[in-house]
Amino acid sequence: MSTIVAIVGRPNVGKSTFFNRLVQRREAIVDAVSGVTRDRHYGKTDWNGREFTVIDTGGYVIGSDDVFEAEIDKQVELAIGEADAIIFMVDVEHGITGMDEEVANLLRRQKKPVFLAVNKVDNNKRAADAVEFYNLGLGDFYTIAATNGSGTGDLLDAVVEALPEKEEVEESELPRFAVVGRPNAGKSSFINALIGEERYIVTDIAGTTRDSIDTKYNRFGFEFNLMDTAGIRRKAKVKEDLEFYSVMRSVRAIEHADVCLLVVDATRGFDGQVQNIFWLAQRNRKGIVILVNKWDLVEKDTKTMKQFEKHIKQQIEPFTDVPIVFISVLEKQRIFKAIETAVQVYENKTRRIKTSELNEFFLPLVEAFPPPAYKGKYVKIKYCMQLPTPQPQFALFCNLPQYLKDGYRRFLENKLREAYDFSGVPISIYFRKK
Ligand code: GDP
Ligand code: GDP
Repeated sequence: MSTIVAIVGRPNVGKSTFFNRLVQRREAIVDAVSGVTRDRHYGKTDWNGREFTVIDTGGYVIGSDDVFEAEIDKQVELAIGEADAIIFMVDVEHGITGMDEEVANLLRRQKKPVFLAVNKVDNNKRAADAVEFYNLGLGDFYTIAATNGSGTGDLLDAVVEALPEKEEVEESELPRFAVVGRPNAGKSSFINALIGEERYIVTDIAGTTRDSIDTKYNRFGFEFNLMDTAGIRRKAKVKEDLEFYSVMRSVRAIEHADVCLLVVDATRGFDGQVQNIFWLAQRNRKGIVILVNKWDLVEKDTKTMKQFEKHIKQQIEPFTDVPIVFISVLEKQRIFKAIETAVQVYENKTRRIKTSELNEFFLPLVEAFPPPAYKGKYVKIKYCMQLPTPQPQFALFCNLPQYLKDGYRRFLENKLREAYDFSGVPISIYFRKK
């Protein structure tokens, strides 16, 4: 289960520098929704073998000091509400500011582990200056330089140490679905529609995080666990932050799920925020079904559905082999189809192809369409196998794996998708040396 570490602090202390250092190779997601704050960033990283999601809560505000103060408060409250640990960053160059004191006050009054990071400690003189930060009343601090990474290792050691133990996820043979999407897309309505007709919710498996409840459903003859992340709204006191809460919740839900049901409001389209959630699921190698909801509100002719579908596929290239179901929760249209498709995607995700069968498929294919010669050398693919991983991964063993390019990988993936149903499932193909 994912844990969240939030970085808070006033602008210019070095939060995003530190953030970028942490999520380096991994793409960060930019949440560019709020007009007031700067973009928020979140991404995944790991330290000492512990994976966590790190959030740079932003903090650049255009406006008066008042707006600014309110914004910082909100940021910190968000962090307190959602994160498992908080890194409070200050800047030794500037020393303690009023804003720092404000943040320290808020942080002192709560129970989450807080790590005070004094940044821009680039030399010994600055290390001596850092003692001033004891005055914030938060106890010991870590001196770091985000630009070159010095001190950040000790800080991260401590942060990771304070994170809650990985919770044992209840082993279940049932597919685990998460309903995700932007606020107002119809997630709760969708879940309610399932609950409404289902009088036999068998058990409530204890929440795997404080924020999500797994409920076992037996619906339309299918059994599955559904994580209800949509219904939990009580913490979203601040309206403008609903979007952010909802995405954070999606981060957790997605990591925990086998298949994500991405609910899209047809009247708003497949916009940037929806795409963020889509790629988050894709990067986590989760099964995906796109549910275009509120189809009742769309004025349509015979072509509308195809056009809509085409538009979405353009946005999700090159991973376009994803089922799209047009639904109306309000009019109870195609709810069954939605669940049926999700179950199918789960089956696709758990599909295992025998090594012999796979070789019979791939070897003639690479023989007929060999990879292009590179620097006068020919790549010979010798055999292949599916790896024993929770999501489909394939290894092709060859003499010169470094010469095989993405284009060829995509060609093989497409062929594989033509031959086997991997709809809605990200697959990986690796070239290994043999
Ligand atoms: P944020 O607004 O808190 O996200 O701050 P940024 O990460 O954008 O950094 C603000 C400025 O501080 C940038 O010019 C950074 O290059 C600089 N900065 C960040 N970390 C360090 C550091 O460790 N040492 C020094 N000297 N400057 C730093
Ligand atoms: P959530 O924030 O994603 O959980 O969205 P809700 O389930 O709360 O739905 C937001 C609004 O959209 C509510 O007013 C719903 O009644 C409405 N809504 C949900 N599904 C549909 C639908 O299929 N058609 C129409 N017309 N409205 C819908």
